[in-house]
Amino acid sequence: MNPVVSHSALLRNRAYINGEWVQAHSGQSFAVTNPANGEHLSDVPDMGAEDTRAAIAAAEAAWPAWRAVPAKERAAILRRWFDLMMEHKEDLARLMTAEQGKPLAEARGEVGYGASFVEWFAEEAKRAYGDVIPGHGRDKRILVIKQPIGVVAAITPWNFPIAMITRKVAPALAAGCPVVVKPAEDTPLCALALAVLAEKAGLPAGLVNIVTCSKARAPEVGEELTTNPVVRKVSFTGSTPVGKLLMRQASSTVKKVSLELGGNAPFIVFDDADLDAAVTGLMASKYRNTGQTCVCANRIYVQSSVYDAFVEKLKSAVGNLVVGPGLEGETHQGPLINQAAVDKVERHIADATSNGARVALGGKAHALGGTFFEPTILTDVTQDMLVAREETFGPVAPIFRFETEDQAITMANDSEFGLAAYFYSQNIQRIWHVAESLETGMIGINDGIISTETAPFGGVKESGLGREGSRYGLDEFMELKYLCLGGM
Ligand code: ADP
Repeated sequence: MNPVVSHSALLRNRAYINGEWVQAHSGQSFAVTNPANGEHLSDVPDMGAEDTRAAIAAAEAAWPAWRAVPAKERAAILRRWFDLMMEHKEDLARLMTAEQGKPLAEARGEVGYGASFVEWFAEEAKRAYGDVIPGHGRDKRILVIKQPIGVVAAITPWNFPIAMITRKVAPALAAGCPVVVKPAEDTPLCALALAVLAEKAGLPAGLVNIVTCSKARAPEVGEELTTNPVVRKVSFTGSTPVGKLLMRQASSTVKKVSLELGGNAPFIVFDDADLDAAVTGLMASKYRNTGQTCVCANRIYVQSSVYDAFVEKLKSAVGNLVVGPGLEGETHQGPLINQAAVDKVERHIADATSNGARVALGGKAHALGGTFFEPTILTDVTQDMLVAREETFGPVAPIFRFETEDQAITMANDSEFGLAAYFYSQNIQRIWHVAESLETGMIGINDGIISTETAPFGGVKESGLGREGSRYGLDEFMELKYLCLGGM
């Protein structure tokens, strides 16, 4: 057995329903493997609709008591959960690298980032303020209160196995809601480890339930979560096609839906940019997590007059990246999550080069084998190539050329996605104009890393609905109730 896994105090190979560690009703399980070398890490229950119904029923039963707990007490439990995550940071990070593949330094960073949502919403729990509105008649008074929405279903991806869970579960619990989580099939161990710590923090049974299942069973579990009338809110992070399906399914009982879907982030470098800063920002945005984040720069637009200089600087930075297994030594880039991810990267590169793009660096599977891939730069890329239309989700930086500001804005907005965008410029008029013109939910201006628990994360267009993190993140799990007092 992998030493990281066998030494982990947080490893569990059962799902977590109603405060108990349980097998699937069918008795079936599926394997969790290490993407760096394919080794078997653990088996976890392969649950189906019946198990999901049990988890939803447990959440429903736990709800009345939890919503009655004063926010200050809910906050104290969340705060303890945060403290425990930080105390077990190294163990969580190692488990994450083992099942997800990211370099250990990035995994440690994600544990801190994931925990920050728990800390933040522990604080926000106490600030779910209502409103008093001037009445519309002499004898009328209007009040608005916020109440927890009810049972929440959270379906999460593998690229941030901890943070994508905490940024849904922490605000849900803070608001007074119980949650059923279906973690990604590639990374259930981190989800189960979080439940160990939540239990240790004193969270009552039934408030966090973890239903693990294989890729094959995800549609069955997803259908139950999105059609069961007890569930009042579905929060999903993942691909756009699955998000659309879940939204369609959730419409049958008119559930509130939050979706964090695919991106296709433009990264624009204007001729007045600090090129070194732009390269640093791009390195962080593009190659973090092997290019597997929904806010990774996907299309790099560089103004003609600085194109060659930028490519040269980028080449020397990318050339210094160390590729290797995340648990071994100081690496910057781990493997891709699976072979399908490698196939997509290869398809994008082949399409670009067959249509006139040039490989300036990398471009092929890494000598390490498996799903390791060379950090890649493509030049002379144009809007008609696949890399312009689809999210590559891999370590490929395609560099497009543009002449004018308007052209850059038009090219950047030429996408059905609208999650994040980035641009580098030193001109304040340009900064304001471009920021207002880009059709995305988030923009990094002279900055390549924008995610923080204090700011609203989310997209426009087909990148999603709703916001996570920040004070707005709590509203996703609450309903407004208007009280009209007459005869006053
Ligand atoms: P990715 O391509 O990043 O794996 P997915 O959207 O397929 O993105 O996966 C994100 C999450 O959605 C995972 O937890 C996955 O198991 C889940 N999922 C995939 N298909 C479905 C489905 N039909 N119903 C519910 N969940 C699903």
